[in-house]
Amino acid sequence: MNRVSVAPQRRASGAPTLQTLPVAVTANVARIRARTPSTIMAVVKADGYGHGAVTVARAAVAAGAGWLGTTSVAEARALRAAGLAVPILAWLHPSGIDAEAAVAAGVDVAVGSVDELGALVAHAASTVRVHLHVDTGMSRGGCRRRQWDELIGLAQRGQRARRVRVVGVMGHLPLADRADPAANAPAVAGMREAQRAVRAAGLGSPVAHLAATSGTLTDSATHLGMVRVGAGLVGIDPSGTVAMHGASRLTAPIVHTTAVPAGTPVGYGGAYVTDRAAHLSVLPVGYADGIPRECSPQAGVEIRGRRFPVAGRVSMDQIVIDTGALCFPAGTSATVFGPDGGAVPSVQDWARWAGTIPHTIVTGIGPRVRRSTA
Ligand SMILES: *Cc1c(COP(=O)(O)O)cnc(C)c1O
Repeated sequence: MNRVSVAPQRRASGAPTLQTLPVAVTANVARIRARTPSTIMAVVKADGYGHGAVTVARAAVAAGAGWLGTTSVAEARALRAAGLAVPILAWLHPSGIDAEAAVAAGVDVAVGSVDELGALVAHAASTVRVHLHVDTGMSRGGCRRRQWDELIGLAQRGQRARRVRVVGVMGHLPLADRADPAANAPAVAGMREAQRAVRAAGLGSPVAHLAATSGTLTDSATHLGMVRVGAGLVGIDPSGTVAMHGASRLTAPIVHTTAVPAGTPVGYGGAYVTDRAAHLSVLPVGYADGIPRECSPQAGVEIRGRRFPVAGRVSMDQIVIDTGALCFPAGTSATVFGPDGGAVPSVQDWARWAGTIPHTIVTGIGPRVRRSTA
């Protein structure tokens, strides 16, 4: 895989730091653009998958993303406040759609039910830009097939009354991670059907969007007018078929180092016992900072170009590293994960060690970890 070269910052000391690498986001958008002529919506929910929503959004838009996507209207407003001017869609409204806030910030909203759309059509003070969200197999949100006609009829009336303007039709793929176009075919057919119904109702041809990262990377039949890419921006391909560029690096300084004899138990429960005389270095990051406690004995970190294992249980605020015969002084920087390759673990490595997906690693880094941008 070609790597974006960003020299690791070596610091003699310093707090645990999660550094975001916008150049990697840029490269990932370029890789996506090479695979689809469709408009790219950069999805930056959950603080840009832990990388900083504004930082990721700016890099993605500069690289050619034409839209932004968030979960909530509040997240969308924060992007507007930071000066991002491209269209933004928000798709989850736990306490109902705040039409006023959405219109004031120029934010589009997805409506996934007759009730949700009905509230807008009844009460909206000015025209709300909506995307009709149809369920294409997720059963997680989106209007069920049996109510599409009702939803579209209501949209038609709402548009006539200038309460709403239908600017998009949205679905979501439940099986795209399989990287098998046949698995997506029913959802693609559903979207086509919804598009036809919208057109037949005189609502024109609003932009249709169905694919997230996996669909975008593995199945061009899902691209339609726009693709919604989140994980791919920060270097995660959930289909596991395309190498993307990791967009963050987590470093922590060694707090102190101790020499211990063979047979020394380490950490809670004494789960790890040194099999030879060794040096143990403490890093000030633990499960409260997002280091998964359930990680396997294979877990490790990089120090000065070499991989060393995490010794024993992950504590709330600390981990212990067994550096064997080598003694690193306090202040030496360790890389917990990064895109560098070699001895540096990747986010994917940590996901494997913890039996989870890379998303939970990058979104799980805690608030005590300092943020920086390369
Ligand atoms: C999170 C999300 C996306 C982006 O998914 P990725 O796999 O991270 O690219 C797209 N659409 C919806 C509705 C989402 O919730």
